[in-house]
Amino acid sequence: MSANRYAPEICALLDHAPAEQRVAVDDALAGASDERLELLARFVRYAAIDTRACESGRRPSSAGQTVLQRLLVDELRGLGLGDARLAANQLVEATLPARGPKREVAPVLVLVAHVDTAPECSGGPVRVRLHPRYPGGDIVIDASRGVWIEAATRPHLAAYLGHDILTADGTTLLGADNKAGVAEIMQALARLVADEALAHPTIRVLFTSDEELGIGAEAIDFGSLRADVAYTVDGDGFGCIDVECLCIDGFTIDVRGSTECAPLWRRKAQSALDAAAAIIDGWSPRERPESTAGREGFIEFSSAIGDASRLVIDGSINDFAVEGLSQRAMALRDHCRAVQQRFAGIEIAIQRQLRCRNMHYVLKKHPIVVARAVAAAERVGIGLTTRSGRYGIDAASFCFRGVPAANLFCGFHDYHSVTEHISLDVMQQSVDLLVALAGVWASPVPQRPRRAARNR
Ligand SMILES: [Zn+2]
Repeated sequence: MSANRYAPEICALLDHAPAEQRVAVDDALAGASDERLELLARFVRYAAIDTRACESGRRPSSAGQTVLQRLLVDELRGLGLGDARLAANQLVEATLPARGPKREVAPVLVLVAHVDTAPECSGGPVRVRLHPRYPGGDIVIDASRGVWIEAATRPHLAAYLGHDILTADGTTLLGADNKAGVAEIMQALARLVADEALAHPTIRVLFTSDEELGIGAEAIDFGSLRADVAYTVDGDGFGCIDVECLCIDGFTIDVRGSTECAPLWRRKAQSALDAAAAIIDGWSPRERPESTAGREGFIEFSSAIGDASRLVIDGSINDFAVEGLSQRAMALRDHCRAVQQRFAGIEIAIQRQLRCRNMHYVLKKHPIVVARAVAAAERVGIGLTTRSGRYGIDAASFCFRGVPAANLFCGFHDYHSVTEHISLDVMQQSVDLLVALAGVWASPVPQRPRRAARNR
């Protein structure tokens, strides 16, 4: 054992390994490069901080997010990014000045990841476990409590033979969504800083909070960002770049019962509860998130709060195209109208709020965003394929505020669950890709993304 070589995080990881695996884990670590160990230590360090988002009404929604953001500011300054700061709007911002012969004219590149983890699964303290040199088959996380990753239902594992796989201990999520993205960006910055031969453009780094609540990008001041192109590093799996996401509109359905005859509320005819139930129950099962896949749109009912006199239903309308979004909104309106006619004395009002538009509408005007990512991937031997992800709100926020953006893979699988896992080898490939991407964007482009002309 070469414990002296290891950061405290790696020693802790070794200590947490089940006795029967300790030798194999030590063996895998002993053969790892310094950068691989550094990347692993970063991830273990970030994962250990509980940053679970919650509906607390505060910003950020949980204190752990600020703890991690402060740590990241310190580490960014340690890397030499002297302007790193935690802005008042709970956003870590830092700039790596451009290097190379074209540094004056290279576009400004933004890399983004979020520090929070999903509200629906325990967020910590996360004890990372390393499953060395994946031999195939199921991955047992905790045999005594029956937590394991079934290989038969996860075909991606076949590509990870021989990889070191990271999981939590079965009691929490792993938080690779999106701390893997954070660690990969930090490691890429560390390499870019250390290797003076590497050219890169001005890189702005943003680590957002409460992305899982859908408000991660709200803190970003797009007016002062002065950026030309952005990549969120928040995609699941390996080798994908998300270039499409759903158009999403929120809706609020306000259902009012008849207040004039309070003693009769229990009568079906006047109860807002019954009318609301009819709205939710009566919506086609084929147009719900659980029964749609791929490019099919749907309506999601997320909450219904109130009583028999008044009840407010919240939800979202989702479709890859704005035309489909409008059609679904009309269908929902017709559906509510029909319910209103069935329930005498009930009044139903719907309001629709714009949330997100498919980033494809912007990216098709800026094909260089994907083309340069694919070129960078080729440089490091990764085949990068475009994908229509269902979600990608942060990248879409950039797109519709003047900065074309796409979402790059960072490697996680089974996100928001106790079986969340990631390959350390894939994390390293993500670091390679980010460094190559910086190299590709170190050159100006003949036709720059629209924002460039406005900013200079
Ligand atoms: Zn995420």
